[in-house]
Amino acid sequence: MNERVYNFSAGPSMMPLPVLEKARDQFLLYPGAGCSVMEMSHRTPSFERILQSAKDTLRRIMEIPENYEILFIQGGATTQFSMAAMNLASQGDTFCYVQTGQFATKAKEEGDRWGNALYLASSKAATYSYIPKVSEIPQETRFLHITGNNTIYGTCYNDLDAYLPSEVISATGAPSPIPLVADWSSAILGKWIDVEKYGLIYAGAQKNMGPAGMAVVIIRKDLLEKEADPVVPIMLRYSVAAKHDSMYNTPPTFSIYMAGLMFEWVEQQGGVRRMEEINRRKAGLLYEFLEGSSLFHSPVNPADRSIMNVTFTLPSSELTDAFLAKTKAAGMINLKGHRSVGGCRASIYNGMPMEGVEKLVELMKDFEKKA
Ligand SMILES: *Cc1c(COP(=O)(O)O)cnc(C)c1O
Repeated sequence: MNERVYNFSAGPSMMPLPVLEKARDQFLLYPGAGCSVMEMSHRTPSFERILQSAKDTLRRIMEIPENYEILFIQGGATTQFSMAAMNLASQGDTFCYVQTGQFATKAKEEGDRWGNALYLASSKAATYSYIPKVSEIPQETRFLHITGNNTIYGTCYNDLDAYLPSEVISATGAPSPIPLVADWSSAILGKWIDVEKYGLIYAGAQKNMGPAGMAVVIIRKDLLEKEADPVVPIMLRYSVAAKHDSMYNTPPTFSIYMAGLMFEWVEQQGGVRRMEEINRRKAGLLYEFLEGSSLFHSPVNPADRSIMNVTFTLPSSELTDAFLAKTKAAGMINLKGHRSVGGCRASIYNGMPMEGVEKLVELMKDFEKKA
């Protein structure tokens, strides 16, 4: 493959060409620094500007209020599974989860190591094809953790209020008694998220914010005040990251720079709401086709469908393999579903242009006609 293809991967995923081109143009020499970003000390004015500007742009495009801190933390979203529990609860405390898929399960398993982690609802028995409703919550819980968009199964919390009790959803200026913690890895910047409803939002970068290996954390400042248990490693404390402006040690400088370029690009496109509009149109093309198809099928409850990860099945594994071979030959890759569920999945984050989705739907139509 010597040409850029349409990459439908769940992550790392496609990035917009103008972002890659800007990074290429500045690769050898970052303006004014005399070196590349990778060679730059993180204690220089050049890097401090890169970091500050990334934070400022993210704050603007997500409309993050001043009482929230933005942190860049290494170790991807998976490290946040432990950090969330270790920072918001003390050892042995009770805290709760909703089981909506594999990442939600992994998050809860990390919680198990730290305290009394409970599932309040689960859609596991239905292969996570819908978002289950939580109606009651133990009052002693330290937080409720949800996975906002379920990358593997193609489900999403499209409406928090319909699925969660009011005690966990904050209103403007009135934090809820129980903080809501959300893993929004696969929908951040692709869909509008009302930050004020949450205590803590985290997201791995490689879906909508650049290279893998880093997570963006958005945390309400009052939650930084809890003294972490003494056993919590320094590197795993939000308060330390906040105090040192994400630079307690050498931060992932290049990843922060790339994330900053992604944030600027989103702003140039017209912001997150505009991205959501475009993403709705992209996903709409696919779902509309799936609704009318007699060959392809969406396994997901219509109200809970994700606009970022569109999962679909064919009647047999032979047809699935034949379809996947056709997509590859047509320059569309990584449409195979996650190894745990099979079928197909089109991940259509911000970096996937409309033409890629149009091309995919054309091929699906053609495949159906000939099948
Ligand atoms: C990709 C993903 C993760 C894992 O991210 P890493 O950066 O690999 O740790 C966690 N949660 C969700 C919802 C994801 O999509």
